[in-house]
Parts: sequence; structure tokens; C-alpha cells
Amino acid sequence: MMRRKLVAGNWKMNGLTASLPEIEAIAAAAAANPGVDAALCLPATLIAPAVTVAGALPIGGQDCHAKDSGAHTGNIAAPMLGEAGAKLVIVGHSERRADQGETDACVKAKAEAGHRHGLSVILCVGETLDQRDAGQAEEVVTAQIAGSLPDGADGAWLSIAYEPVWAIGTGRTPTEADVAARHGAVRAKLSELLGADAAARLRILYGGSVSGANAAALLACADGDGALVGGASLTADKFVPIIEAAA
Ligand code: PGA
Repeated sequence: MMRRKLVAGNWKMNGLTASLPEIEAIAAAAAANPGVDAALCLPATLIAPAVTVAGALPIGGQDCHAKDSGAHTGNIAAPMLGEAGAKLVIVGHSERRADQGETDACVKAKAEAGHRHGLSVILCVGETLDQRDAGQAEEVVTAQIAGSLPDGADGAWLSIAYEPVWAIGTGRTPTEADVAARHGAVRAKLSELLGADAAARLRILYGGSVSGANAAALLACADGDGALVGGASLTADKFVPIIEAAA
């Protein structure tokens, strides 16, 4: 099964229109590396302006509500992202699971809402440091997959991002053997839930302190199909080498 690599940036709560030239530069580099799928998930306010400079680079959101509309102050619905020009959405990022108390069931419903409105979905899972130190990483991650995998999960629109919480924004990364083992556990759980053929079509991304310096090694880990990149996706000089490492 040939899966194209996906390198997605997650700008988190960063970015004003002053960043549009960076987006334009990242889009140009992505266009120069047609063997890799690249994408940028931006703050909702930046999606529509980014689309005007991003060319063929898919722009995404970082969350969507499970419902299509209603009395949910401050939230963004999937059709709103789509109307703004988003092609994808991240759901279940650990910062939202922790800060907003998002449960697996809530993440599953958000993933289904994204798909219902034509968005590709990156579904995040990952263990905390305490869970890892207690030897529970695999158990935690596979339970998150089981609880948050959307109905109708299909590699045509869904990717899984394995992001150990302790590696996010810390400059620390797991060993390549650890990443490969965790990816393998994710793939095995997907096989159990979807069947081997369907599981083989889903991309598994690694996320957590990916940089130009470590991208080639992390992207080469068994069962890995790309990266979800936070801090190093904010500027073209840091993000482009990661796209190139995936090429
Ligand atoms: P980081 O963030 O690359 O800054 O560690 C990754 C993420 O949270 O998606």
C-alpha cells in the first residue's frame, strides 16, 4: 500500500494577516515538492485571507463543533470552516482534550462533522508523560483510537496523528523505535476496528517537536506517513525543510 506523505502545520493560536507572506512562501515550497501533501491549519480568522495567497496548498482549521449551528458561543462549525475555504480540520488535539475537556466521544463527533461537510480530518491521539512513565502509552493511545475513530473512517479523508503530549512544544522527542512501536500499535488497532485493507489506507502522522533537524529520521519511522508540526511550521525557513525531508 503506497501512502503519500502528509506534512501538516498547526499554527495553534498564532498568526495575523502580517503572516500572509510566510503562508505564500510555504505554499510556493509545497508546490515545488509535488511528491508530498502539505497543508496548514490556521486560526479560523486567518483561513479566508490565507486561501487568497495559498494557491494549491490546502488550508485547514484546528477544531470544529460537532453540530452544524446553534447556541454555542465562541465555537466554529464545520460548514463555516468550509465556507471560509478550509479543506481540512484537526480534531482531538491534546491541547483541546486538556484545556477544553474534550472526551473521545466528543472528538469522534467532531471528526464526523468535519467529514459530513467535506473536510479531511486529522485526528490526534497521544499519551501524557505520567502515562508513558507508568508504561501505559500503548494502552492510552489505542483506547483513544477506539473511542474517537469516526464512523465510516476512511483513508481518503482521515489521518491519525500520534502526538505524545510530553513531546509537544518541548524540544523532546521519543526514540525512533518508540515512534515506530506506537505507530504499529495504532495501525494494529485500526486493523482490528476497520479490517487490514482499510487500516492500510489511513495515514499515521507523528507530531511533537518535529524540526528540520529531526524530520528525516522521524518521517522514516516504520508505519509513519508524515508529520503534524507546531512551532516549526510558523515560518517558511523552518517549515520548508520539513516538507523537503518528506519528499
Ligand atoms: P510542536 O507541536 O511541533 O510545536 O511540538 C506539535 C503539535 O502540537 O501539533
